[in-house]
Amino acid sequence: MAVTSVLVLGAGFGGLELSTRLSEELGELVEVTLIDRSDAFVFGFAKLDVMFGHREPEAVRLPYASLTTPRVRFRQETITAIDPSARRVVTDLDEYEADVLVVALGADYDVAATPGLAEAGHEFYSVGGAVALRDVLPDFRSGRAVIGVCGAPFKCPPAPSECALLLDELLRERGNRDDVSIQVVMPFGTPIPPSRDTSEAILARFAEQGIEFVPDSRVTGLDASTREAVLGDGHRLPFDLFLGIPVHRVPAVVQESGLAVDGWVPVDQHTLATRFDGVYAVGDVTSVGTPKAGVFAERAARVVADQLIARIRGAEQPSGYDGTGTCYIEFGGNTVGRVDVDFFATPGHPTGTFTVPSEATAAEKREYAAARGARWFGS
Ligand SMILES: Cc1cc2nc3c(=O)[nH]c(=O)nc-3n(C[C@H](O)[C@H](O)[C@H](O)COP(=O)(O)OP(=O)(O)OC[C@H]3O[C@@H](n4cnc5c(N)ncnc54)[C@H](O)[C@@H]3O)c2cc1C
Repeated sequence: MAVTSVLVLGAGFGGLELSTRLSEELGELVEVTLIDRSDAFVFGFAKLDVMFGHREPEAVRLPYASLTTPRVRFRQETITAIDPSARRVVTDLDEYEADVLVVALGADYDVAATPGLAEAGHEFYSVGGAVALRDVLPDFRSGRAVIGVCGAPFKCPPAPSECALLLDELLRERGNRDDVSIQVVMPFGTPIPPSRDTSEAILARFAEQGIEFVPDSRVTGLDASTREAVLGDGHRLPFDLFLGIPVHRVPAVVQESGLAVDGWVPVDQHTLATRFDGVYAVGDVTSVGTPKAGVFAERAARVVADQLIARIRGAEQPSGYDGTGTCYIEFGGNTVGRVDVDFFATPGHPTGTFTVPSEATAAEKREYAAARGARWFGS
């Protein structure tokens, strides 16, 4: 039987799951090449751990050098051009062609799109930003903290709320909470729009802890001279510490490839196929209609893998992507809540079921991460 070559661009949640599943299920029937510019994978939520000093930056890295998946060739290279019509990819070191191309390159941050953010604020969405904040937070003992979303869509919609609750916890532990105000600026009316129960639980906790929620707003710029965050409607919020969620974009190489339309890569909602033959896209890089989160990227990757497995084995095509996923939400005090969301059941009306925060769910989240580390990296 002929060997199918699959080229996977990006070794994040989506790329790692896709490569692992294909190689596990198909063995010698598939040759997977996985390309990423980084030398290690880091879970998104680990950035909060680093920022608040709960874990060392080195401890949250899963180096690609320890990838043990059989028949996956990992290449640490930067992708510089993608030709989706020819399924051809150029990197800083090589060129590739494949029978199947899967784009899992995630979302990049455009810090410069928010004037003043680089000069007067901080971001905690990159590992570098989280590491920098780990050194800033110990000295922040009084004043106004603003956690502000600068654009939508953005990764992990619960993360700004989690950041506020963890900052509140840190300040209480240090005895500085009475000297600090915390505001959270979000482009939605509630923290988690698909789940009223989850939003109410977050807003109730905000009220208990004295955190102000500023709904339906985004930060369009920071005035470095007055140290104010400027909102879309012109309102200004003074700050001493600004923790920003930068504007997200597809990586430049995706934009230049012609794959993106209106900013993100459109795909068939059930098959994750792009409009180019043999080219799929999964995860944050797409506009599939689910939030930008690892759980959704991973589930989409499984769907693509299962279709390829069925096709190569000549089996019936499996059912498509269902738009469901589970998000864990840090509430502080070593408790975690969870929301099980379904984005496709009723088109245009996502639903979510909330599980109240507990230490048991915090343990479940740790197991979730450990299981992926073991599955993808054998560690
Ligand atoms: C603070 C924070 C908290 C989060 N918490 C959660 C959570 O609790 N649960 C959850 O599910 N999600 C969470 N997320 C979101 C999650 O991390 C992302 O949605 C997820 O990683 C997306 O997976 P992906 O495969 O689409 O892209 P990514 O995991 O981002 O992978 C994309 C890969 O492409 C590579 N790449 C990009 N451009 C190039 C190029 N030109 N050449 C080579 N390689 C390139 C990158 O290096 C990267 O490794 C969080 C994110 C943040 C920032």
